[in-house]
Amino acid sequence: MIIKLEKETKESVIDAIKKMIEKEERIIVENEASDCKIIGIIGDSKDIDRNVISCMKGVIDIIDETEKYKRANRKFHPDDTIISIDEERTVGGDNLMIISGPCAVESEEQIIEIAKRVKNAGAKYLRGGVFKPRTSPYDFQGLQYEGLELLKKAREITGLKIVTEIMSTDDIELYEKEVDVIQVGSRNMQNFDLLKRLGKLNKPILLKRGLSATIEEWLMAAEYIMSEGNPNVILCERGIRTYETATRNTLDISAIPLIKKMSHLPIIVDPSHAAGIRWMIEPLSKAAVAIGADGLIIEVHNNPDKALSDGAQSVTPDMFDTIIEDIKPIATAIGRSL
Ligand code: PEP
Ligand code: MN
Repeated sequence: MIIKLEKETKESVIDAIKKMIEKEERIIVENEASDCKIIGIIGDSKDIDRNVISCMKGVIDIIDETEKYKRANRKFHPDDTIISIDEERTVGGDNLMIISGPCAVESEEQIIEIAKRVKNAGAKYLRGGVFKPRTSPYDFQGLQYEGLELLKKAREITGLKIVTEIMSTDDIELYEKEVDVIQVGSRNMQNFDLLKRLGKLNKPILLKRGLSATIEEWLMAAEYIMSEGNPNVILCERGIRTYETATRNTLDISAIPLIKKMSHLPIIVDPSHAAGIRWMIEPLSKAAVAIGADGLIIEVHNNPDKALSDGAQSVTPDMFDTIIEDIKPIATAIGRSL
């Protein structure tokens, strides 16, 4: 249940409402929007006397929402969430979040060279997997802790923020200390133990959509993080499994406007894992920006044909330059910038 109040509603009225609805098994969530105040109630609200509340000064509306996701629900939080990373970086506002870099960190030379190139092109974040969730246990599993040190070195040299995937709850403390944006991969979208632990941090979490997850399941995964106290969730559409085999996955472009309607959380697009095909990254990136995505995460490799993972979908630094130039006018047309 959601109680919508006028922006000017006095604290004394809000306190009185809260006293009336407080119950041990209920959670009360308060949010301040640009044009109203919200009191959200999580838990059974059948016995709340709506007539009494609706007569209180300042109450505009009482909404009985039916969605299972609450904190991630736009009805609970009408304004867009804007996550502040530092003085020059926000996610979910006018600026697009551009993350790029290799699928996996492979060597110092590789990550530093790519970092310099993507920074020059306009990226503000460097991606690079160090713990890789590979389908085969015989494939390259990532440079692990050594890879994280290389990412840190690239950050030191370029000033880019680093984004990397966490696979195990054992690494939470290290990631909290060392990583700027913690990525939860598709395969871990429903690793509830991991999500709950990440919910105890105050770090931005990049939550990729599960391989076959519905939008609701994905928002419920976000809810797991948020329900533990971390509101800094960035969703990432990376393509879903369909019957189509011509592409690696199918980019669910409709997920972007849907998420915007259902939730207040920022959503970015990963055209690389969606398409799995290098030449398709550019058109999908343009479409993502045009439809209102809050950013892109793109795999870039200085020698894609020799990449240890995901080479077929990795663009070269030159191709990345072109993609960035091509999306700029689209961003401008919809009031966004890089
Ligand atoms: C990745 O970003 O390299 C990755 C493994 O992505 P996903 O979890 O979307 O497959
Ligand atoms: Mn990859």
